[in-house]
Formats: sequence, C-alpha cells, structure tokens
Amino acid sequence: MPPIFIYFLYALYIYFVLFYRYFNPKVRRLKRNIPGLLHQYSVYYQNLNHKEQKHFRKRMLRFISLKRFYRFDKSKVTDEMKILIAKSAVQITFGFSDGHEYEVFRNIAISDKEYRSHQTKNIHYGEANPSKSLIAFSWKKFMEGMANPHDSMNLGLHEFAHALFINNMKGYRNKEFFKEIREWHTTIIKLKKERTIYDFFRCYAFKNNMEFFAVSIEYFFENPKAFHQQLPELYAVMCRMLNQNPMLPNNGLARKIPFFWKF
Ligand SMILES: [Zn+2]
Repeated sequence: MPPIFIYFLYALYIYFVLFYRYFNPKVRRLKRNIPGLLHQYSVYYQNLNHKEQKHFRKRMLRFISLKRFYRFDKSKVTDEMKILIAKSAVQITFGFSDGHEYEVFRNIAISDKEYRSHQTKNIHYGEANPSKSLIAFSWKKFMEGMANPHDSMNLGLHEFAHALFINNMKGYRNKEFFKEIREWHTTIIKLKKERTIYDFFRCYAFKNNMEFFAVSIEYFFENPKAFHQQLPELYAVMCRMLNQNPMLPNNGLARKIPFFWKF
C-alpha cells in the first residue's frame, strides 16, 4: 500500500476521533448534561475523586456510543435515559481495566412501564436477553430504583449484573471476575448451609444463582456497610470480583489511569 494512502487513512481516523470528541453536537450536549444528573442521582460518582470522576464520564460516553438505544413505542430516547442507563452499566464494571463494555448486548430497549417479554411471555420490569442482544427496562421501575440510593432496590444495577454474568459466560471474560466465580459459588453454598444469608437478602434472591448475583449487586452498591457487617466473607469475594469496594473512599479504586485517557 503506498505510504500516502496510509497517511490519508490516518488523517481520516484523527478527523473522526476529534469530530466525535469535540464537535459532534449530540456528544457536546451529553457532556453538558452528564455532571448534573450524576450529582443528582449517583452517590457512587460523588464518592470518586476528581480524576476517577473524569474517567467515569468518559466510560459513560463510550458506552452510549457503542449501544443502540430505542423505545418500545418508537418515541425519542432522551439524554437523561441514556445517561442514567450508562451510569448503571459503568458503575458495576468500573473496577475492570478492560472488558467493561457488555459486548454480548448491542441494544438497549426502554418501555414506559412493565411489558410482556417475547421470550418468556411473562410480564417483566426488565431483562438481559443474549439471544436478542438486548437489555430492556421499564422506565418507571428504573426511576423508582434511582429515587432511593440506599434501599437495595435498583433495576438498572440488577439488569446490568445479569448482563455482566452472561457476558462472562459467553466468553468475554473479566479476569478479576472470572477468577473469583468459583470462590463466590463456594461461599454462597456455605452461607446457605449456615442459613445466615436468608436473613439479609430479599426472597427474590433465592430464585436461582443468576438472580442471587443480580440482587446481591443491588445490596453491594446501595447498602455496602450493612452487607459487610452481616456477610463479610461474601462481601470480600464481591470486592475482589468487581475490583472495587463502595464502602471505602473513591470506592476502593486504586489504579493508574492510562496516559491517553487523560485527554
Ligand atoms: Zn433478575
């Protein structure tokens, strides 16, 4: 390939990167709206230091750029919807250095309220459906989850917890997460025998292991102190799995942010 053509391709790439980051009006609008919504709705974000907050916002924009958002009734997806959904997705995987993009799931669908799933034929508030590469939410239920950050009920975190688990099962592995799965499983078997686990989580957690993981993620982020106090062994496994600890300042994150992320 002649060198001039390579230079041309390189210049084109730089042009698109710069356009997307600095000049695209949709991205500029999202960038303007993100900080206010995070301050209003995310205790997690407020617990991050300045450098990690910037990193968090970048990951949100990346998530939004990678996914196709749509509503069941074909009406417009608002910036608020995109931002709050991206916030839930990024929060769970924020401890991972890579593999944090839920690659199995390309589509994010929003229903105004509960809906009937094509797959199960049951009424759902949300689902993570790998066969349709889809994560869906009832917006009413999603916002109820955002309204109280400490009641351990959060549909956004719940569905992205399912998505993370499925993503790892489908081969997109996060090394920290995958390394601890066996330990996580052993720990819940032990705690079930001791019965202590039943006093802490709501009943729905015990439907199956997938639901247990999703519900425990809600407790992990919304009620970390009580979780740690009641079930320290399981809490420690989850900290290692997610490579973070929301009970600590800066959510327990201690990492060097790569040079290129600073721009
Ligand atoms: Zn579930």
